[in-house]
Amino acid sequence: MSQSNATQVIHSIPVCELTGAVSVPIYQTSTFVQEAPGVHKGYDYARSNNPTRAALEKIAAQLEHGVAGFAFASGLAAIDAVLKLLKAGDEILAVDDIYGGAFRLFTHVYEKFGITVQYVDTTRIENLVDAISPKTKLIWIETPTNPTLKITDIQAVGVLAKAHDILLCVDNTFATPILQEPLLLGADLVVHSATKYLGGHSDLIAGLVITKSQELADQIKFIQNASGGILAPFDSWLVIRGIETLPLRIKQHSVNALQLAEALENHPAVDKVYYPGLPHHVNHAIAKKQFSGFGGIISFSLKNDTAEQATHLLKNLRYFKLAESLGGVKSLACHPASMTHKSIPREKRLQTGVQDSLIRLSVGLEEVEDLWKDLFDALEIAHEQTIAQICKAH
Ligand SMILES: *Cc1c(COP(=O)(O)O)cnc(C)c1O
Repeated sequence: MSQSNATQVIHSIPVCELTGAVSVPIYQTSTFVQEAPGVHKGYDYARSNNPTRAALEKIAAQLEHGVAGFAFASGLAAIDAVLKLLKAGDEILAVDDIYGGAFRLFTHVYEKFGITVQYVDTTRIENLVDAISPKTKLIWIETPTNPTLKITDIQAVGVLAKAHDILLCVDNTFATPILQEPLLLGADLVVHSATKYLGGHSDLIAGLVITKSQELADQIKFIQNASGGILAPFDSWLVIRGIETLPLRIKQHSVNALQLAEALENHPAVDKVYYPGLPHHVNHAIAKKQFSGFGGIISFSLKNDTAEQATHLLKNLRYFKLAESLGGVKSLACHPASMTHKSIPREKRLQTGVQDSLIRLSVGLEEVEDLWKDLFDALEIAHEQTIAQICKAH
């Protein structure tokens, strides 16, 4: 498998042919002068095409080994474009612990247009086999999932999808093409919230779709222009700048996260640690096969499994900033039960492993020793409190 290495990624970013500028120019324009009606340099109106966005789209296509890429105003706008490939009467099979925004879009927007969705645990291929019907037109997987980082075998699902003539789309936001290459494993489409690792600096909202075939590229191009949810030139430029350091960042995110996951496991206040790089993770075997590193996201729960305890710990962190989102250079921490997964009923939330005390970390690029000291100090306070509580109870 041809991994996207740093040299390839850095040199996929073009030098300006007109001026020699090493940074892609930002074409802040809405329209382009034509020599005669319909005679132009490939650009007529900036919703249809813009040179800065086109540069990002080409870089993204190379990064994900697709024929074409398309940049959108957000990850959800990118997901929305893929759903518009479907029509009334079609069914989607989607991973059960899907990103909340995708769930909202599938269920509360598209169901009213006659598209149905079945949510299944895609880590077990037999669940998909059982759920497929003649109506199934799209399989939607996210791998790893959020926040318990379950891994689906893309290659196995790809074989199944192909046999039934179903499209397979992978949300590759968490892994990035540096760790996982869905189009080489049999997926037809990849989507990204480029807001996360591809942008990498918590300074923009953006989305991408990359297609494996020219036929799908033509369809997505049509939808992008027809619906108009395009990425602006400046934000396109920011994503390109983010991609320049993506291989380096992902490598370090993975190194830092593995060390923290191992240290967390050995702390007495910690109950479960979810990280695909740990040998006891439910999907460690497939993670080892499918990934070239294990990424920067860790989730863990506390022995004292209460929201209060988690809140207390989060308030005692210095470097891990309490915020939604992930994938930036700065470490972030969040409490899924009261933040990203708040709208999910408690019973259902517990079934998918999102305990009351579960904390999700987006491990940044600070010195790992500083990050561990930050976590350790907050955990020690939490641990002392738990012991005090036990003593009081007796
Ligand atoms: C954030 C996220 C999205 C949505 O992207 P936006 O850029 O916020 O619209 C989709 N999928 C996953 C896995 C995400 O983490």
